[in-house]
Order: sequence, then C-alpha cells, then structure tokens
Amino acid sequence: MPLPEESVVCEIIAVGRRLDAHGLAAATSGNYSSRVDGDRIAITVSGSHKGRLSAADVMLVDGDGRSLDSRIPSAETPLHVQLYGLYPHVQAVLHVHSVAAVALTRSRPKATLLALEGYEMLKAFPGITTHEARVDLPVFDNSQDTPALARSIAARLTGKPAAPAYLIRGHGMNTWGRTLDEAERILEALEHLLACELQTQQLKSANGPEDDHEPLDHLSRSPAADA
Ligand SMILES: [Zn+2]
Repeated sequence: MPLPEESVVCEIIAVGRRLDAHGLAAATSGNYSSRVDGDRIAITVSGSHKGRLSAADVMLVDGDGRSLDSRIPSAETPLHVQLYGLYPHVQAVLHVHSVAAVALTRSRPKATLLALEGYEMLKAFPGITTHEARVDLPVFDNSQDTPALARSIAARLTGKPAAPAYLIRGHGMNTWGRTLDEAERILEALEHLLACELQTQQLKSANGPEDDHEPLDHLSRSPAADA
C-alpha cells in the first residue's frame, strides 16, 4: 500500500502536466503543494519544469515551511504554508505565472483588488450559484522579500470573507482548495475569467467608449438594407 505522500506526489506530478498543457507552466515557473497529513506538506522543489515533474521534484516541508527531507524548498514556500495556516480546510495550493494575471495587474499599477462580475464562470468558485455575483480578488505588489510579501498578504486575508485566490502584480496568482482537484478547478476558472477580462479591456480600448451603445443588430443587416 503506497504511503500517503506517494499518492500526493503522483497527484502533484499529474497536475503539473495538465497545467503545462494549458500554458501555465512556462520555463520553471510556478509551484504546487498539497497537505499530506497534519503539518506535513508536499511541495515542488525550486527550479524544476512543472510539466516534467518526477517524484524527485517534490519534497516535504512542515507547517512553517522547513524542509523535512534535507532538500531546500522554493523561496515561495512561505506563500503556501501561510494559506494552510490561515485556512485549516485548505488541502492544496497552486501558484502559476499566468500571462493574463501578469498583464492585467501590470495594466492597473495602483489597483489593490480586481473585481470579477457578471461572468457565468464565477459559478466554478465555491459558494457561487449565479452569474449575478461579484468576486473581489486581492492584488499585491510583487516583492523578492517573500516573508514580507507573506506578511502583507496575511494582513489582508485574515478576518475577511475568503476569496478563492489572489494576484501578485507582474508575477502571477495563487489559488487553493479543499482538494487538489478543487484548487485546479478554481485555477482553470480564474485563468478563463482573467483572459475574458483582458480581452474585454483590449476590445474596449480598441473600439472606444461609443461602441458601448452600438446596437448588435447592425451586424446582421444586409448592404441593401443600408442603402
Ligand atoms: Zn512565482
């Protein structure tokens, strides 16, 4: 019978392949983790390509992010263990360098949140049953001082209604869930939503505000009707 960490490692390897297939694992970017039991967390090592993970690319850390197997964890490990500490129900955390997340947050350099509203895909987030909803995702400025970044994230997440994810400007996004499958579903949904948001922003910018009032039926009118 496999040890608990062995099945978790297999799940992390599989999610890496799927996220790479979605274009969410460029170069060696991103890191993924899943709670094994209690305070033991399996997390990808630094520097590995996430689409080509093997068991040797996943290590164990404790709830404070300290290595349990002599390997050196990723510098972004504090952003994972913090979520397990803040939310006891969280069993998995995914961090990716999404192009849409990077572009949107860079296009809004002062924004501290990104609101998603009116999208059908919002129903992929826990607890949302209608498109008539609004989700405010916290946005944080990037920093190479990961412990300091973790402290600023904790200050915003503690005591607030739990968002399903947050964004780091010019860097990427973190999602989490009660299972690795749920964290992956939220990540895929968020990637879809951010891509829609980005394309909508680009279309509005290209077309100008007057197009907001242009009737859609002009598209089906024949040239004769216009004469
Ligand atoms: Zn990163």
